[in-house]
Amino acid sequence: MSYPIYKQAIYETTLNLVKVGLIRLSSGNISTRLPDGNIAITPSGILYDKMKPDDIVIMDLGGNKIEGKYKPSSEKALHNEIYKAHPDVNAVVHTHSIHAIAFSTVGIELPVVCLELVFVGGPIPVADYQTPGTVKVGIGAAKHFSEKPGLRGLLLQNHGLVAIGNDLNDAYQNAYNLETGAEIYHLALQTGKKPISLTDFQITQIFEQYKKPGKY
Ligand SMILES: [Zn+2]
Repeated sequence: MSYPIYKQAIYETTLNLVKVGLIRLSSGNISTRLPDGNIAITPSGILYDKMKPDDIVIMDLGGNKIEGKYKPSSEKALHNEIYKAHPDVNAVVHTHSIHAIAFSTVGIELPVVCLELVFVGGPIPVADYQTPGTVKVGIGAAKHFSEKPGLRGLLLQNHGLVAIGNDLNDAYQNAYNLETGAEIYHLALQTGKKPISLTDFQITQIFEQYKKPGKY
């Protein structure tokens, strides 16, 4: 099949993540599932401000390169393990955004204190630490998404965040909401007061208001 349209979409999503500050230099990686079952993913070892659409790599679910002059992201296993465990997930965004990392280092679950965290299916868990780049990171993340079907993003201990979506834009928005929610929670904690969590009833009301069928 022809891949340029998907490469362009990954490229644009990456630039958007750089623009909103979730990606710095080449930290973080983005992928989408293709109609033929393969995966388009950002390349390894290239600064994103130098990246071109054609640098996006096509790989199979085993992480083997199908097309592209660079290697697939060093964190390809994180993406592939999620795709293998969740056939309904069509895009994955992983970032080393600072508020997500900060909370991941203290292992604090993010409570649902704002709409941003409601829409990501909070409370947001922290997956146990695993060496970045290993299959175990992906298995740990995929397990959390299986245990909590409404969850659309989570923290990876001492590492960052990972968000999933029906498509690239959905995964991008989930990553953005998760990082923004972490930033909001951080600011609220600076007051020295305990931030108020929304109740399950309030969350249900919010979904009804936004015409969403429950927690996704
Ligand atoms: Zn990472």
